[in-house]
Amino acid sequence: MATELYLKHTESESPPREALTVNPAKTCQPIGAMYAALGVHKCLPHSHGSQGCCSYHRSTLTRHYKEPVMAATSSFTEGASVFGGQANLLQAFNTIFSLYDPQIIAVHTTCLSETIGDDIPQIIGKATAEGKIPAGRFVLHANTPSYIGSHVTGFASMTRAFVDYFAEKTGKGTGKLAVFPGWVEPADMAEIKRILEAMELPYTLLPDTSGVLDTPMTGRFEMYPEGGTKLDDIRLMGDAKAAIGLGHFCSGPAAKLLDTKCRVPCDILDLPIGLAAMDRFIDTLRRTGGVAVSERIVQERGRLLDMMADMHQYTYGKTVALAGDPDQLCSLSEFLKDLDMKVKYVVTGTPGKAFESRLSELIGEPGDGDWRGAPGDLFSLHQKMKQDPVDLLVANTYGKYIARDEDVPFVRFGFPILDRVGHADFPTVGYRGAMRILEKILTVLMDRQDRDSPNESFELVM
Ligand code: SF4
Repeated sequence: MATELYLKHTESESPPREALTVNPAKTCQPIGAMYAALGVHKCLPHSHGSQGCCSYHRSTLTRHYKEPVMAATSSFTEGASVFGGQANLLQAFNTIFSLYDPQIIAVHTTCLSETIGDDIPQIIGKATAEGKIPAGRFVLHANTPSYIGSHVTGFASMTRAFVDYFAEKTGKGTGKLAVFPGWVEPADMAEIKRILEAMELPYTLLPDTSGVLDTPMTGRFEMYPEGGTKLDDIRLMGDAKAAIGLGHFCSGPAAKLLDTKCRVPCDILDLPIGLAAMDRFIDTLRRTGGVAVSERIVQERGRLLDMMADMHQYTYGKTVALAGDPDQLCSLSEFLKDLDMKVKYVVTGTPGKAFESRLSELIGEPGDGDWRGAPGDLFSLHQKMKQDPVDLLVANTYGKYIARDEDVPFVRFGFPILDRVGHADFPTVGYRGAMRILEKILTVLMDRQDRDSPNESFELVM
């Protein structure tokens, strides 16, 4: 009932606003940092703040991935809030290493510890000097104040931190590719690995949440599942032949740091979602790895093209509203354009000039009546859709309220998806992933056509 009331109070017009965000299209930085840390083997994420923050981060990830997410917290109370969290963090290192035995603790900060001004490197240094970090065990950190940025920047910062703390150049080249997959699902990471293996390219993927957040039911609890990038492999990334960062926003900082720190030349590409972005990924693999494109990959591309051509009549000219994260939105928008759909509204909770310019490079400048959100929130998107409706909404779970209110076909895509399954298990990257996206879009569009057809034009074959 509360939702109904909320939706009915969304006016199509409202006074201009700049500083106020209503119903933001993002979550907080530490959630991304936690997700990145989970993609490293035997790494325990640690939230340096209050228990409430950690509970929120864990529960959001658990709801999305349908897996128990392990993480620790500094458990700030009033004392830590006033005097700083050093004592709590030092105690946490003792407790965590003795009780949970991780190889790595990945500390991310929170709004509160950032506001206090806790100096995490200094605390890690003190813990090291006092012998609180056992031999062969490690602590790293990323600053993730959530009053700036979003889960996207938190993910990027933690991925970069692994390179910063661990990647080393010894001069003994490994011949491997260092691949940063960006914030994609565990199934996407597995798909990227499958593609690299199909191209017969040796690689290290960082992070890698496949085998961590998509584990099978075995009846046994594993604190640290089999998956995740191994620490030794992260170290060796400094000796990689080349690096590929997938997603400018999630992977760019780590790939650039590996380049400047260890002189590993990097290409930063769009996420390989959709035909053209995947083509660019494959072409980069071909050039960088000096290999021919696998016949299996060529066939997958052909199947995608076939589906796009077969179903073109159902996608042609359809208008779309998108909400999500910049890396996903750039590639998805380009794919929708290739399907001859019209991307009318785009909103992200991680806005910026780099996003706007990349989107314009991929799909052109916004036309008359188009809107690329500022302020970037779901409330504004809802207002735009009231003023001039679209044929399709693609967004994370929170889009369901708008879809219901506007009675518009809806595809769940991005993070978080709290009320459905499948997103962590079936990839949307690669040519096969693009087929899945297209299938989901076609299903909701054709279901709508069936629903709205009068009896005399309700057809078996549409
Ligand atoms: S206080 Fe900050 S870090 Fe904690 S849950 Fe809220 S936004 Fe995230």
